[in-house]
Amino acid sequence: MSATVNSPTGVDGATHGAASRQYGAYIDGREEAPASGEYFATQDPFTGKDWAQIARCTSADVDAAVASSKEAFASWSRLRPSQRGKVLRKFADAIVANADRLAEIERRDNGKLAAEVNAQVRYLGDYFHYYAGLADKVQSAVIPTDKDGVFAYTVFEPKGVVAIITPWNSPLTLTSWKLAPALAAGCTAVIKPSEFTSASMIELAAIATDAGIPPGVINVITGLGQEVGEPLVAHPGVAHIGFTGGEVAGQKIYEAAARGLKTVTLELGGKSPNIVFDDADLDQAVKGIVSGIFAATGQTCQAGSRLLVQDSIHDEVVRRLIDFISDAKIGDPADLTTQIGPVATKPQFDKIMSYIELAKQEGATLAYGGKARSEIGSGQFIEPTIFTGVENSMRVAQEEIFGPVLSVIRFTDEEDAVRIGNDIAYGLAAGVWTQSLKRTMYVTDRLKAGTIYVNNYRATSFTSPFGGFKRSGIGRESGPDAIKDYLDVKTVWLSSDLDVPNPFIRR
Ligand code: NAD
Repeated sequence: MSATVNSPTGVDGATHGAASRQYGAYIDGREEAPASGEYFATQDPFTGKDWAQIARCTSADVDAAVASSKEAFASWSRLRPSQRGKVLRKFADAIVANADRLAEIERRDNGKLAAEVNAQVRYLGDYFHYYAGLADKVQSAVIPTDKDGVFAYTVFEPKGVVAIITPWNSPLTLTSWKLAPALAAGCTAVIKPSEFTSASMIELAAIATDAGIPPGVINVITGLGQEVGEPLVAHPGVAHIGFTGGEVAGQKIYEAAARGLKTVTLELGGKSPNIVFDDADLDQAVKGIVSGIFAATGQTCQAGSRLLVQDSIHDEVVRRLIDFISDAKIGDPADLTTQIGPVATKPQFDKIMSYIELAKQEGATLAYGGKARSEIGSGQFIEPTIFTGVENSMRVAQEEIFGPVLSVIRFTDEEDAVRIGNDIAYGLAAGVWTQSLKRTMYVTDRLKAGTIYVNNYRATSFTSPFGGFKRSGIGRESGPDAIKDYLDVKTVWLSSDLDVPNPFIRR
C-alpha cells in the first residue's frame, strides 16, 4: 500500500488537497511502485498547490534500475550504430509531438515561463536528431605504428550504464544533454531527476518506450539525493556519472565516483561577469543584461549575475536598466505575456531573500526591487533586484544566488575588467559588450570561462560545447565531442609477422 510523506519543500502532501497524478518509478519499460511504497507531493510554484505525487525510491529501486539497464545494455550496445540512430530519430520526433504536454508538466513543476519552456522542449528534438546522426560517425583510427610486423587500430566501445543526475531548473534539457549522446554511444541510462521536478522525466521515459527505445535503455528513479542519488553513484554497475547541479552535491559525487574509479561530467554553478564597455550599443547591452540575470527569474547556471560596467557609463547603464525592467510583467508563467515567473521552490525563495538582506548588510545600495511579491499566486515571487556599489569581494558578488539579483560593479579599463571578471572561484560563462574588435580579442583571450558571449547572452546549442572552468565543473556537454564521454577507446594490435619475435624483449 502506498503512503504519502512530506514533500521535499516541507509541505505535507496529505494535507494540501489530493494530487491529480501519482507517478511511480520507471523501470524496464513501465511505471513501478517504489520499494518503500511511499510517495511525496510536488508543488506548482505558481499556485503553491500539490499537483502530483512522486515515488520515494530507495537503494532497492536503484538496484532494480541498474540491473535492468545492465541487461538492456547487452543488446543496445550491440545494435548497429546506424540502427540506434534510427530509433533515436523516432524518439526525437515523439518528443516534438509531445512537446506541449511535456512543457506544461515542466512548467507546473518548476514555474518556468511557458513562453520559454515551450520552445526549449521542442528544441530537444534537435538534440536527439543531432546525436542520432552522430551515432554512426564515430571514426576510429588505423594507427601508423613505429613497430614492424604489427597492424594496430582503435575501436570505441560504450562505457556501460550511465547515471544521469539533474537539478530542477531545466530538467528535460539538462537530461537530454547527457541522454542523447549516451544513447547514441550505445550506453544505457538510469536517470535521477531533482526531487522537485520529477514528473516530466517519467513522462519522457514513457514516450521513449512508445517510440521504440527498448525497455531498460532508459530507467528513471525518483526521490532524494541521499536516498537515491548517493546509492546510484556508488553502485558498482554504474560506469559514468553525468551530473548537473550545485557545487556541494557535485563534490560529493566526484568523491564517490573516485572511490569507484568512475568517470564524471560535472556541470556546476557560476557567478558570471557580464562586462559592458563605454563603446557598447547600450540599448542592446541592456537587453543582454536582462537576459543574463532576469530571464528564468535568474535561475540559470550561466546567469550574468555580476554586471561589470565601465566607470564613465555606470549611471547611464543603471538608469536604462531600471527603466527597462520596471515594466517587466511578473505573474503566471502559463500566460505567454509574463516575463518574470515564480521562484521554483520555497527553499530557493528563502535563499534568495536571505542574500538580498545580506547584500544590504554588506553595504551594497539597493537600486531597484528587493521585495517579495507575496500578493501574486503562491507568493513565491521576487522583484528583479539590482544592487549598485558592490565590491567584488562581497559575498553577494562571490556566491551563486540563483535568483533575480544583480550585483553591479564598476571597472576602469580592459585590464581591470578582466581582473575583476576572473577574481571568482567559478568560470562558467561571461558576457562582453563592445563594438571594438581589439577589446573583444583582448578580453575573450584572458577571461577564464567555458563560454563567452560577445554582444549577446545565454545562447546554447547541441552544436556547441558547454561547461565550466574552475569550480564550475569538469568536462563539456553538447557538440560533437560529447559522445566520447560515453565511449572507451580500445586499441587492437594484429600481428602481420609469421613468427613472434624474441619473447623476452618488449617490441
Ligand atoms: P543540487 O546540487 O541540490 O541537486 C542536483 C541533483 O543532485 C538533484 O537531483 C539532487 O537530488 C541530487 N543530489 C543531491 N545530493 C546528491 C548526492 N550526494 N549524490 C547524488 N545526487 C545528489 O542542485 P539544485 O538545487 O537542484 O540545482 C541548482 C544548482 O544547479 C545550481 O548551483 C546551478 O548552478 C546548478 N546548475 C548548473 C548548470 C550547468 O550546466 N552548469 C545548469 C543548471 C543548474
